[in-house]
Amino acid sequence: MDKLLFGTAGIPSSAKGSGTEGGIKEVKNLGLDAMELEFVRSINITKQKAPDVKEAAEKNNVVLTCHAPYFINLNSLEKAKLKASIGRILNSAKIANLCGAWSVCFHPGFYQKSTKEETYERIKNAIKEISETLKKENNGIWLRPETTGKETQFGNVDELLEISEELDNVMPCVDFAHFHARTNGKYNSYKEFSEILEKIEKKLGKRGLENMHIHITGIAYGEKGEKHHLNLDDSDLKYKELIKALKDFKVKGIVISESPNIEEDALLMKKEYSK
Ligand SMILES: [Zn+2]
Repeated sequence: MDKLLFGTAGIPSSAKGSGTEGGIKEVKNLGLDAMELEFVRSINITKQKAPDVKEAAEKNNVVLTCHAPYFINLNSLEKAKLKASIGRILNSAKIANLCGAWSVCFHPGFYQKSTKEETYERIKNAIKEISETLKKENNGIWLRPETTGKETQFGNVDELLEISEELDNVMPCVDFAHFHARTNGKYNSYKEFSEILEKIEKKLGKRGLENMHIHITGIAYGEKGEKHHLNLDDSDLKYKELIKALKDFKVKGIVISESPNIEEDALLMKKEYSK
């Protein structure tokens, strides 16, 4: 990526009913640059349909990312569940790649009764297996374990940066709202946002800042972390300070708005960034 692009988590509300290609066209009409394919409940694009999506994205100059299903736990001790989780990420990556997508993110899993170390090893090995399979299939999509919104979920920034450093084709998906929710309200100032970006640069170098898949949304939270998403203006997230930090660190890649109003907050952030 040679700049920072802004887009929607899924089909914009203003294009509802017109399918993925209609959504891509609407993203372009709205003046946005990217769209995330939401496979969170199911992988809802077929192998046969994917080339049409790719064509629409290319024609409209819209970059696609993908969010794999929520039902994933790479730390599951049950073999069948682990296998199904790996399969869901692989299938998402396969279809997303056929759609011409740049990046696929997923929530890696839960600590459950495991220690942090055991969880790290198990999840890293599973992601390694996925990464190696994609390499064999000549699938160059970026694999993005996401920073998660609850303390019970694996995926703080240190864990994800460690995995990204160890494995090829793996970079974190950085969800700033999740940081904020996971810590019950911290990570909400220019200084704290900058600390995250500094950490990324320290571990992965400039390429870490120039290859970012970012999620931003307003968020409701409590002691247990994330509750639900909110529009930015209805939330306490200091998104203007966040956008300023992204600008000052010359971050490149894609910012996806996951707010309930989808495109409105994507446009709000893009406008703030362009000021
Ligand atoms: Zn997510």
